[in-house]
Amino acid sequence: MLREVAPGVLVRQSAFCLSNAVIVLGDDGVLLIDPGISGADLTDLASELHTRGLVVAAGFATHPHWDHVLWHEAFGTAPRFASRTCVEHIHTDLEDARGKAGDLAPGAPLDLLGDLTPLPDGPRTLPWVGPRVHLVEHQAHAPGHVALLVEGAGVLVAGDMLSDVEIPLLDLDSPDPVAAYAEGLDRLSDLASTGARLVVPGHGAAGDAQELRRRLALDRDYLRALESGGGEDDPRLGPDTAYGRDWLLRDHGAQVAVGRRGHA
Ligand SMILES: [Zn+2]
Repeated sequence: MLREVAPGVLVRQSAFCLSNAVIVLGDDGVLLIDPGISGADLTDLASELHTRGLVVAAGFATHPHWDHVLWHEAFGTAPRFASRTCVEHIHTDLEDARGKAGDLAPGAPLDLLGDLTPLPDGPRTLPWVGPRVHLVEHQAHAPGHVALLVEGAGVLVAGDMLSDVEIPLLDLDSPDPVAAYAEGLDRLSDLASTGARLVVPGHGAAGDAQELRRRLALDRDYLRALESGGGEDDPRLGPDTAYGRDWLLRDHGAQVAVGRRGHA
C-alpha cells in the first residue's frame, strides 16, 4: 500500500527484503523509482496508481541489481532512466539478473527486466516535467549507482545505501571497494546537505534528517572498522535483528577479507 512520506512523495514497501518503491508526483504523471519485486507487488502498485488516476511519466533504476530493475507492462512504456554505467552493466549481467528474479520474484515479467534508457550526458537533473530531481552518481555498492534528491519535498532516495537494516554492502568487483564506498558516502553527504529532510533507502525504513546523519556516521564507522578486521559489532548484525542476519553475516565475512587486503 502506498504511503505518503513527504508532500508529493509516496512509498510502497515489498515484503521481500523490505524493498521500497518510491513515487514522485509530477505535472504529467509520476516518477517511479525501483518499482518492486514480485508480480503481485508490481500489479498491486499499478492498480493503486490507476485508482488514484496517476500514470507513469518516467521510471528510474537506482543501480544494476536485479531487484531494482524490474517493471510491469501495467506501468506503460515511459522511459526507464538509469546511469549509462548502470545500463551497460545490466546488459552484461542480464542472464544472471533474470535467473535471480526468476527464483525470487515470482510473477515478475522477466522480459522487461533491465530495459533501461541511459540518462543523457550533461546536467545532473532528471529530464522530466515535475519537481526538480537532482542526481548524483557514485560507484559504491554497484557500478553506476545514482541517488536522487527531490527538491522541495527534501527527500533523498538513496538506493542501496543508508539503510537501517543493512550494513554497507560493498561492490567486491571494484578495484578498491572500501574507498569506493567511502567516496559514495561523501557524495551522498554532499547531496543531503543541499536540503534532505528525509532519506528513503532501497531496503528498510525511511528516516528523518537526524536519522540520516546517524546512518552516515554508522556506515563510516563500519568502513573504518573493516580496515582492521572489525565491524561485527555493527547493530545491524546484532542478535536481535530480524532482517537477513545470516546472509548479512556471510557478506560481512567476505568484506572483512577485502578490507584487510585493501589496507595491508
Ligand atoms: Zn543492490
